[in-house]
Amino acid sequence: MAALEGLEFGKSDFVLLDEVNIEQFMENLKLRFENAHIYTFIGEGVVSVNPYKQMDIYGKEDINAYRGRELYENPPHLYAVADAAYKAMKRRAKDTCIVVSGESGAGKTEASKYIMQYIAAITNPSQRAEVESVKNVLLKSNCVLEAFGNAKTNRNDNSSRFGKYMDINFNFNGNPTGGHINNYLLEKSRVVQQNGGERNFHSFYQLLRGGSDVMLKSLHLHNDPANYVYTREGATSNNDRSSHNAVLSALNVIGFSEEEIHSIYRILGTVLILGNLQFETDSESVRVVGMGDVSHIAELTSTEPDNVTKSLLYRTVATGDGEVIEKGHSEKEACFGRDAFTKALYERLFGWIVGRINAVIEVKDYNPVLHGKNTVIGVLDIYGFEIFDNNSFEQFCINYCNEKLQQLFIQLILCQEQDEYRREGIKWQHIDYFNNQIIVDLVEQPHKGIISVLDEACLSVGKVTDTVCLESMDAKLGQHPHYTSRKPVSVFITSLCRSHSRLLYFSHSSISLSVYFRYSIEGFLDKNKDPLYQDFKRLMFNSSNPVMKEMWPDGQLSITEVTKRPLTAATLFKNSIVALVEKLGCKEPYYVRCIKPNDMKSPLLFDDARCQHQVAYLGLLENVRVRRAGFAYRQAYTRFLQRYKMTCVYTWPNHLMETDREAVEAIVTQHGFQDDVAYGHTKLFVRTPKSLFTLEQERAVLI
Ligand code: ADP
Ligand code: MG
Repeated sequence: MAALEGLEFGKSDFVLLDEVNIEQFMENLKLRFENAHIYTFIGEGVVSVNPYKQMDIYGKEDINAYRGRELYENPPHLYAVADAAYKAMKRRAKDTCIVVSGESGAGKTEASKYIMQYIAAITNPSQRAEVESVKNVLLKSNCVLEAFGNAKTNRNDNSSRFGKYMDINFNFNGNPTGGHINNYLLEKSRVVQQNGGERNFHSFYQLLRGGSDVMLKSLHLHNDPANYVYTREGATSNNDRSSHNAVLSALNVIGFSEEEIHSIYRILGTVLILGNLQFETDSESVRVVGMGDVSHIAELTSTEPDNVTKSLLYRTVATGDGEVIEKGHSEKEACFGRDAFTKALYERLFGWIVGRINAVIEVKDYNPVLHGKNTVIGVLDIYGFEIFDNNSFEQFCINYCNEKLQQLFIQLILCQEQDEYRREGIKWQHIDYFNNQIIVDLVEQPHKGIISVLDEACLSVGKVTDTVCLESMDAKLGQHPHYTSRKPVSVFITSLCRSHSRLLYFSHSSISLSVYFRYSIEGFLDKNKDPLYQDFKRLMFNSSNPVMKEMWPDGQLSITEVTKRPLTAATLFKNSIVALVEKLGCKEPYYVRCIKPNDMKSPLLFDDARCQHQVAYLGLLENVRVRRAGFAYRQAYTRFLQRYKMTCVYTWPNHLMETDREAVEAIVTQHGFQDDVAYGHTKLFVRTPKSLFTLEQERAVLI
């Protein structure tokens, strides 16, 4: 019996721990990992530890074993969670979502892919062509997004450098009819610079290594990444060539036209060539070195060479009295402008690709009267908390996003659970937990949150430095219990405590439960402002290539019309996360929490300290506590009776009770679980899976 196999190596559900403390949690996690049980439940969610080796648990038989079954009937698996989300969606016409979180390299993207594959495998049994084609595009979109949005980092050879949320739409039959992808905060700084040992986005190497000679010649590119400033640090990999072909074929399958595909590669070429441009100053004026390259850029972007040069060397500014003048860049400004331009080219390309995929998979002509309710499963694969030695603006945004998701978890699990208990007439005891709203507020509150102080500093006229900005944060937030700063090194710190009983600020005695985030303020203002001269936007808007023009609609504004300050990067990100949380908020959530066992990508090593740290900031103990406070499982009386009737003399071979509820009571009482359950109006609520495992065991002996 599969479920029992899981029990042999530790508890297959953390809810079953004798006591919920970090020691027991870690012991169980380690025991299971060392015995190749990479998944463990926390109620309806699953904790996954990256095995760093191929596991033989994703085959057709495995998929069949989980299809349509209840969570505890099989060992913990992503498939169990995917199936639970699918069942809830199909049976109850509920929108559901699966939130996959964890740090870089923990296995989020692999998990999301297995989930998608599972959903693809269990749907459309009659193989209807239009459904198959939707599934195909959904699966192929991964290949394209990974090429343009993933890169080799020191933590992960195939690290997603963007957050991804994908909605899959289903018709009343439970078959996919379409979908929608949202992308979040692409790490565009990687286009111009990478850390030692890391690479630029895969797409560049794939093009250079895999593109045909004819193609590269037409793009004025050489095939060696060492020729380009932006790619010379990263080594090519053996996969680049074959991946290029896979991406090309995926683009074709999805339905990108020839012209669109060419435009994509022309933009990649433009970025590489721009990156090689240098500037020099002679007798006061700055000029581009290597004019040949400018003409290649003009050719690839379908713009005029003169305009390219001009936008690289000058910016148009409106003076106070409305006069428009051209101001020459310094050499430094020209370099800054060039890099801002290449980053924006790449970011817009990525956004456009996502939009283009969405146009293909968008549900068209759906008529709810004709087709029944259209339901959705969302899959979120987004960077988890990041705590590095040196944390900057990007980590700040990412960690804020995770606080929001944690807040959503608290609200959904606690509030929705309470609602259901009320509906079913069950008594529930309130539990004490750490509500991180205070940290969310610290970041996002209007007028006084960190983002607002940052924005104010970015918008103020005159030279505001990072340090000055830090001083105004101190003035506004100095009293906040989760904020502090250290001047000489210009860091600011927000603390986060997952201890549910008491907030321990800066207490090292309880470090396993408290997590501190330390950010270096350096570069925050520039990254938040993220300036791009209007001249580049106009240049691209005037491109005679319609695909490129479409990516730069804001280029049509003349400088005098660009009066409103563009939203800052932090505010844009905040808005997108608020929208994401709203989307998730109306869905029933399922969680996959991924843990990275070590930093060596080793299948053998369970690094206790590293793992414990992740368990702490993922708030896993908190999850277990919430789960244990309530009822982890619930099941309609009829279904429960169907499955376990053979274990009780009152229900087998004949159903001797008046109602299903009474029959269920008889089963529960015969097995002595009465203290572990509560009876709702339509469902049985079970506190721990212990009782269910026992029933499963008996059932297995009897059938
Ligand atoms: P993340 O998206 O969290 O950064 P990935 O999903 O890209 O991490 O996983 C990083 C690497 O770990 C993968 O490239 C793969 O080698 C390995 N890995 C992750 N999950 C699994 C798994 N379930 N089975 C085998 N290897 C895995
Ligand atoms: Mg990833």
